[in-house]
Amino acid sequence: MEMRPEDILVPTPAGVCCKRGGFHIDPTRPAERALITHAHSDHARAGHGAVLATQETLDLMRLRYGANFAGATQAIAYGESVTLDGVTVTFHPAGHVLGSAQIAVAAEGLRVVASGDYKNASDPTCAPFELVPCDVFITEATFALPVFRHGDADGEIAKLLHSVALFPERAHLIGAYSLGKAQRVIALLRQAGYHAPIYLHGAMEAITYYYASRGIALGELRPVRGAGKAELAGTITLCPPSALKDVWTRRFPDPLTAFASGWMRVRARARQYGVELPLVISDHADWDGLTATIAATGAGEIWVTHGQEDALVHWCATQGLKARPLDIVGYGDEDEGGSGDDGGDA
Ligand SMILES: [Zn+2]
Ligand SMILES: [Zn+2]
Repeated sequence: MEMRPEDILVPTPAGVCCKRGGFHIDPTRPAERALITHAHSDHARAGHGAVLATQETLDLMRLRYGANFAGATQAIAYGESVTLDGVTVTFHPAGHVLGSAQIAVAAEGLRVVASGDYKNASDPTCAPFELVPCDVFITEATFALPVFRHGDADGEIAKLLHSVALFPERAHLIGAYSLGKAQRVIALLRQAGYHAPIYLHGAMEAITYYYASRGIALGELRPVRGAGKAELAGTITLCPPSALKDVWTRRFPDPLTAFASGWMRVRARARQYGVELPLVISDHADWDGLTATIAATGAGEIWVTHGQEDALVHWCATQGLKARPLDIVGYGDEDEGGSGDDGGDA
């Protein structure tokens, strides 16, 4: 009998499940065996029996949840395959954050790729997105509306550096999600030739130092904690977006607030955070990135999760592709503009 995609993976309320292989991918509830695409908290939760993920994802989960975040862990490298009860799983770079992976699940000649969150734009802090040909592609849809075109991150960094040059007495506070976005902004600043020390909100420290320990060039970093007000004039500080409206900002001289997010394309979102300098920098594929990637996988069937599912499902139909929304509740909670207070990996 011919295999159907559902014989390999089925969507369940707890996430996509491979019954045959006995595992879930990014389960939203405690699972016996979990394969984790990346360490953002909506995908990587504590309390699973066994976790299979990249070394970086395991390390980041350990940083966030403590040493006992899972019963057992196994690290897998990009390009490496593991066979679980006759099902072969292979991890490939997703280009989203450090350690992020797409998970290819294959059995009897049929291949389903669960991409997790991904982007096809360049990012000096993680391995570039790898296109994996497949029969079924499970895509995210965070920015799946034609209005979302992220443009060039370097141009946004130039805007920030221009502002720093223009206001040498003010402290620039950049709201950025603490896993991935903050480190990417720092790395892009370094690439653009900014070599002054960059300051970190306490919530940024552990993850940012972990990135540096993995050889990512972030230059000189300093904790804001303990820095005097005068010292912070003319400097750049990374903080969680929620801190932008906090009394915490009072320690800075005449703070100028920026926010690095794909949502900054939407003016109302920038206003909502009271942001003076919106920076359109996203760790998710934009509309063009999503549609180009879907087409390039060669998949005849697309499963859509995590965001603007309807628009992308509709687009797939116009291309003659079979498509369905997965309607799994629990993803995207960390994306800025979502319900998460921490303000998001978008
Ligand atoms: Zn993510
Ligand atoms: Zn996500």
